[in-house]
Amino acid sequence: MTPRFRTRPEASGLGMTSQRARDRMVERLRSEGGIRDERVLTAMRTVPRHLFIDEALASRAYEDTALPIGCGQTISQPWVVARMTEALLEDGIPRRVLEVGTGSGYQAAVLAVLVPEVYSVERIDELLRQARRRFRKLGFENLRTRHDDGRSGWPDAAPFDAIIVTAAGTLIDPALVEQLAVGGVLVAPVGGSSGQQLIRLRKTAEGVEQESLGAVSFVPLVPGVG
Ligand code: SAH
Repeated sequence: MTPRFRTRPEASGLGMTSQRARDRMVERLRSEGGIRDERVLTAMRTVPRHLFIDEALASRAYEDTALPIGCGQTISQPWVVARMTEALLEDGIPRRVLEVGTGSGYQAAVLAVLVPEVYSVERIDELLRQARRRFRKLGFENLRTRHDDGRSGWPDAAPFDAIIVTAAGTLIDPALVEQLAVGGVLVAPVGGSSGQQLIRLRKTAEGVEQESLGAVSFVPLVPGVG
């Protein structure tokens, strides 16, 4: 697999140390996390997660934990990123993917290594600006972002072969299902304070099929822009 971005580990100040830490993270995802998709594991070995969080927390970047990214939001735990990406790619590599909830930009970056086109929407401008800076620094050219309420998707760029939602709503927004291509797959956490499930929805010519992939814990999907 050829990464679609330029890595500049020297810019991180962590260099080889961070590569070793990433290798260890990936081995844990495989052995303890049950992640089997080598494409996903390779992408996560490539993307420098420590560049997606505040420098003060960089030493914890390769622990399997969610971390604060400001504005009351979190970068998802590596296992969750791996599991959702794996679930999205199981039917084949989608050409065009929409992400709702750019946050730190890490999930979008992992996707951008794997698929030709990534579109990511974030409601908090401050987070989006930081994420864009990271994408520029790493040289991603196949990643577009937009400041908007992602619950209405990105109509001008639809249809999408895959959609990933990284904040939990009480339902899957109908606009997103509408913008999913027939044969496409959507992965989203759904639920409220009493618990969330990771849902995978497939859109077929006959309608939609849904399955649960297990319990998860995400920040809530919030209406409007911040
Ligand atoms: N994918 C991110 C996860 C960030 S947490 C990462 O890899 O870091 C979820 C993000 O979803 C937050 O940044 C939050 O602001 C954003 N979000 C919540 N509701 C949203 C909405 N309606 N539209 C767009 N983004 C939303």
